[in-house]
Amino acid sequence: MAAGPLAEGRLVKCLVTSNPTSPTPTASLNTLNADLHCHSVVSDGTLTPEALAQRAAANGVQLWALTDHDEIGGQARAQQAALAHGMQYLTGVEISVTFAGKTVHIVGLGFDAQDPRMQAGLRATRGGRGERAKEMSEGLAKVGIKGAYEGALKYVGNPELISRTHFARYLVEAGVCQDTSEVFRKYLTENKPGFVPHRWASLKDAVTWITECQGVAVIAHPGRYGFSPNEEFALFSEFKAHGGQATEVVTGSHSPAEYVKYADTALEFGLAASRGSDFHSPEESRIDLGQLPPLPSTLTPVWALLADRIQ
Ligand SMILES: [Zn+2]
Ligand SMILES: [Zn+2]
Repeated sequence: MAAGPLAEGRLVKCLVTSNPTSPTPTASLNTLNADLHCHSVVSDGTLTPEALAQRAAANGVQLWALTDHDEIGGQARAQQAALAHGMQYLTGVEISVTFAGKTVHIVGLGFDAQDPRMQAGLRATRGGRGERAKEMSEGLAKVGIKGAYEGALKYVGNPELISRTHFARYLVEAGVCQDTSEVFRKYLTENKPGFVPHRWASLKDAVTWITECQGVAVIAHPGRYGFSPNEEFALFSEFKAHGGQATEVVTGSHSPAEYVKYADTALEFGLAASRGSDFHSPEESRIDLGQLPPLPSTLTPVWALLADRIQ
């Protein structure tokens, strides 16, 4: 898709506004180059919000959202940079919740970032990351990897947001593993020495914060959790019952077969669909901003529900 000067940016809003919640989505609305999932240095990405905006625009993104983990401190910068590059912008966040004993991610789009309910909820969710990181470091020390907490801290702009990804980067730097996926596999997943379970927000809390603040809640990369069919049914049913309205279908975390599977799931549950690269870093991410295939034409894109929230 061609790069997006201002005229194309206006086209996005125009298309969305002229077709707000049509039950039969038009092809043009579905083929917008929307990338509604990525991370900056405000959480565990390696680029600034400004550098991400530049990269997204260069890749032809027309509608963009920055969705840092449990943090909205980059929203104003991202929005400003998006508009400067002629892209339309939706506010974004990716909230960690615990569901069926696993960590599940819920993306929020188009919410009011100034709303104190969202800010208080995210603050509560962030609490506990520091303690968990120290326990992870103790676990790694027991298998001979010393100083991982201090090492991981070098990779995080905000110590409240220290995460497994930062540990992974340090273990690669320290020569313990070849790449970050090897670190996760050998050290940071269930039953491995650096794994410490953490209780995040509840599914209901996350969906409620987003919808109370006028946003739309989206299940992030549902194919990544390894749920059984029953657990997955429960996730989608409960999400919908709490007011969730969309699921990611085309994401950097899904295989093409999973695009098809979750397109069917979206239709089965009457959910809109989202598209996002989950881009973290030029070195680590398989899919670049704006480079995914379009949403299947049978689905209602999540941006059709957010026409009045697009900036
Ligand atoms: Zn995620
Ligand atoms: Zn993500």
